[in-house]
Amino acid sequence: MGKVLIIGAGGVGTVVAVKMASLPHIFSDIMLASRTLEKCEAIARRVGGNRIKTARVDADNVPELVSLIRSYKPDIVVNVALPYQDLHIMDACLETGVAYLDTANYEPLDEAKFEYSWQWAYNDRFREAGITAILGCGFDPGVTSIFTARAAKHHFDEIHYLDIVDCNAGDHGKAFATNFNPEINIREVTQKGKYWENGKWVITEPHEIHMPLTYPEIGPRESYLIYHEELESLVKNYPAIKRARFWMTFGQEYLTHLRVIQNIGMAGIEPVMYEGKEIVPIRFLKAVLPDPGQLGENYSGLTSIGCRIRGLKDGKEKSYYIYNNCSHEEAYRETGAQAVSYTTGVPAVTGAIMYLQGLWKKAGVFNVEEFDPDPFLEKVAELGLPWHEIHGADLEL
Ligand code: NDP
Repeated sequence: MGKVLIIGAGGVGTVVAVKMASLPHIFSDIMLASRTLEKCEAIARRVGGNRIKTARVDADNVPELVSLIRSYKPDIVVNVALPYQDLHIMDACLETGVAYLDTANYEPLDEAKFEYSWQWAYNDRFREAGITAILGCGFDPGVTSIFTARAAKHHFDEIHYLDIVDCNAGDHGKAFATNFNPEINIREVTQKGKYWENGKWVITEPHEIHMPLTYPEIGPRESYLIYHEELESLVKNYPAIKRARFWMTFGQEYLTHLRVIQNIGMAGIEPVMYEGKEIVPIRFLKAVLPDPGQLGENYSGLTSIGCRIRGLKDGKEKSYYIYNNCSHEEAYRETGAQAVSYTTGVPAVTGAIMYLQGLWKKAGVFNVEEFDPDPFLEKVAELGLPWHEIHGADLEL
């Protein structure tokens, strides 16, 4: 039985709250806090039965967070606000001695750059305070890193080639929309590509490298090499990796919109003056784009995310593919949110369960592959994200 404080009432926060509320034997008390109280209240109403308490909090304000945590006394804080808030929430957890979990690594507001250095720098303080911080416990990062940990634990002596493949073959019926927070999403997909090869990072132009990859139950989809944050911790934790890459599918329509958005300056993160007021173009764009949390209703099709791995087992080369497919319709039926929010929220809930059950509890700051993958993968499948393995598959890569 545990007491949890969820921060962030967006698409992912909706899934986390709904799912936790359905598990009263594990999550006895749930509070959902966010910048806009009405959004928390709407989710609590949807769940009903007074299962979810709500609060307004500015997660960039550490004293405000500390006083909320002190008054509610959770066992763990699940951060599904934005990456900008990560360090502030970690500061508040340190000050109050409460465990921390998130799904995306810290990004400074004024620089579209994500790396773990800022959060890893908290390791000594968390270790000395005897507190657990679990980083990147969504799907990617998250389950993809845990898939890799499973491969390393059960199927390989050495992983040499890792390709994480992320396909969204869903259709939401909109000309252009992002599947999670537009600001974070556009910052992520418009930056340069980057992959690990022979001990160093190779930088590419955005979307320069692409090829069709075949996804189970979906078929071939053009897949683009982009940089994704779990590559950083995976190459550190599995030093035998010779090459690690991340591929994501994009439709032509999406890429055309993205190019226009960039060319006209709407992806900018520097403030501009507009009618005497400073505005940040990408933040204004977020205000006019569809809310990803509301995309679910007419969303059809599947997501398919997995790891394609080659390496050595007992001196022999082998290939391995582990993946999950998730249906937008089923995710929406269960939680009112689409599959991208669902595949992020369910692993966050699973990670919180691992902590509360003492299975993932150690002092310090950890990426998810540093914990035992087995109980997590068993639980995440039970909670709605079953996974499949193919040994000896043609990986196409
Ligand atoms: P949304 O934009 O839908 O939700 C973010 C929520 O955080 C909003 O409710 C927002 O409040 C709240 N928030 C923002 N700033 C603050 C603040 N200062 N204080 C309190 N609350 C705040 O995003 P998503 O739900 O789509 O994404 C949530 C997180 O999940 C992001 O960090 C994203 O990067 C991550 N993610 C991870 C994935 C993975 O697989 N690992 C995949 C997809 C997403 P308001 O409602 O007022 O705007």
